Amino acid sequence: MSEAIKIHPSVDQGVKAVSANFAGGTLVCKCAQSPVKVAIKGQVAYDHACGCTKCWKPAGAIFSVVAVAPRANLSVTEHGEKLAVVDPNAAIQRYACKECGVHMYGRIENTKHPFYGYDFVHPELFQEPGWAPPEFAAFVSSVIESGVNPDRMAGIRGRLKQLGLEPYDALSPPLMDALATHIATASGARPA
Ligand SMILES: [Zn+2]
Ligand SMILES: [Zn+2]
Repeated sequence: MSEAIKIHPSVDQGVKAVSANFAGGTLVCKCAQSPVKVAIKGQVAYDHACGCTKCWKPAGAIFSVVAVAPRANLSVTEHGEKLAVVDPNAAIQRYACKECGVHMYGRIENTKHPFYGYDFVHPELFQEPGWAPPEFAAFVSSVIESGVNPDRMAGIRGRLKQLGLEPYDALSPPLMDALATHIATASGARPA
């Protein structure tokens, strides 16, 4: 019954291949008129499906698809006046369109944060094809916090594996190792 599991519209028909020619593009919100546009230079990195409750998800999707881009590569090009921060107290300041609700980018202002310098974006908002596809699924158990019945988890994890998106209940092991290394270096447990 895996057909019935809607992970995310950008992967439900199979994960699309990356284009070696992708040189960046424009993220566009869902407003029919005067959409917010955000230009990104270059390819995105660490793309993944995310089950956390904070990421923006399209209607009907259980997961978001989220990636990072260096903040210097991102610029709001149209209708930035429609953007507002969803939760000013969150570590990631998510800028959402006030009209359609789509999150256009998330930014970290704490220079000590391990991911400082990277903005979080939802690459399915690119109007151009060829962006780097998701490589794994993060925070999978957290979809239960969004209301998914726990009985469905075996099916959801099975579908993710079928799509080649290895399910993890945190970030992927390399990213968790990078976070822990950052913390250990900051605390002095590990030489800088
Ligand atoms: Zn909008
Ligand atoms: Zn998330």
